[in-house]
Amino acid sequence: MQTFRFDPCRLPPEAEALRGEVRAFLSEALTDIPPVVRAQTWSGYDPEFSKKLGAKGWIGMTWPKKYGGHERSALERYVMLEEMLAAGAPVGAHWIGDRQSGQLLLRFGTEEQRQMILPKAAKGELLFCIGMSEPDSGSDLAATRTKAEKTDGGWIVNGTKLWTSNAHNAHYMIALFRTNFDPDNKHAGLTQFLVDLTIPGITIRPIKDLTGNAHFNEVIFEDVFVPDNMMVGEEGNGWMQVTAELAFERSGPERYLSSFLLLTELVRELGRTGDASADAEIGRLVAHLVTLRQMSVSIAGLLEAGENPIQEASVVKDLGALYEQELPVKAHELAGVEPMLGTGSDYAQVLGFLTQASVSFSLRGGTREILRGIIARGLGLR
Ligand SMILES: Cc1cc2nc3c(=O)[nH]c(=O)nc-3n(C[C@H](O)[C@H](O)[C@H](O)COP(=O)(O)OP(=O)(O)OC[C@H]3O[C@@H](n4cnc5c(N)ncnc54)[C@H](O)[C@@H]3O)c2cc1C
Repeated sequence: MQTFRFDPCRLPPEAEALRGEVRAFLSEALTDIPPVVRAQTWSGYDPEFSKKLGAKGWIGMTWPKKYGGHERSALERYVMLEEMLAAGAPVGAHWIGDRQSGQLLLRFGTEEQRQMILPKAAKGELLFCIGMSEPDSGSDLAATRTKAEKTDGGWIVNGTKLWTSNAHNAHYMIALFRTNFDPDNKHAGLTQFLVDLTIPGITIRPIKDLTGNAHFNEVIFEDVFVPDNMMVGEEGNGWMQVTAELAFERSGPERYLSSFLLLTELVRELGRTGDASADAEIGRLVAHLVTLRQMSVSIAGLLEAGENPIQEASVVKDLGALYEQELPVKAHELAGVEPMLGTGSDYAQVLGFLTQASVSFSLRGGTREILRGIIARGLGLR
């Protein structure tokens, strides 16, 4: 049985020093953005804001300087991220590239790919999306059917990716395609590609979610030619690469701070009513949040040490989603304000948005059942 590693990890002084700098920047940069927009935070799309962060050196912070990065630690990056999310900064445009696609290229990409992509991504000028899920392949990612067939100088791709966040705004997709089919081993024969979304044969269709936003898409590939030099890593190594990428996707502060704005708005709202009986409940919610943060910081320490904490990341994502889905329910009970969409007080609108959006928090990035399956495997139960 594996031991879950949640050793205490202390943020170094340089990370705490950065916190003040980030807070000062955000207190000016976000003044005109209303709370209901800030509630979207890492799903909020604002490419100009991303460019401002790129200019500050806050995208690709840990990447080597020769690729436009800043060679700072994962823990400094962590502090920058938690400040962004706590303030509700619209960081969605560059989020995927900063969190996982850049890391993936650093680890598995070619020198040519790194030089072509990373400096622009670090400036916030080149945006990514993730092409994993398909109509019949979400939880069962290894059932990927979108096929890349070898041809002269490259690959011909046919198939459909689904739920692709920001595909309509992104420049590149890191896509998982099937390059070989082995009926006895579906995890073999998968390969990752860097796909320029402007090449002919790609159709991107928006899909509206419960909140009325169309932030994700269906992406259809019809005889799309992807050149050889856009393969990421080795042919057939896609499963290993994708699972390594998921540790970055599942462990960060976005997994427990997506609803944070509601907590601060709730405290403001209750402060107006002076309802002392709510104090204990707020205290419990804050204690829970602090514990999640300790666990997530601990994983940042493991990532900094070059580990691949996929099990620990699954624990944080599952507990984080439970917390984030509980917050709107508790906020509704405590403040007695009805959730509203498009009208009402700031508080009612933040509550309205998160009541609807939080349903998806236990789906995106891996469902609750899938995460618990991974945790059970770590415990030696399956
Ligand atoms: C807001 C949002 C953004 C997203 N963005 C992206 C993106 O950018 N790129 C991308 O590739 N994907 C994205 N996704 C897709 C997401 O990863 C999938 O929705 C998710 O993995 C579930 O897959 P599915 O929708 O096919 O559901 P299914 O896999 O069909 O699951 C349906 C239900 O069955 C349960 N289930 C499935 N298998 C098992 C099992 N073996 N044991 C027990 N229960 C099981 C699931 O837990 C779930 O409750 C996004 C999803 C959302 C909601």
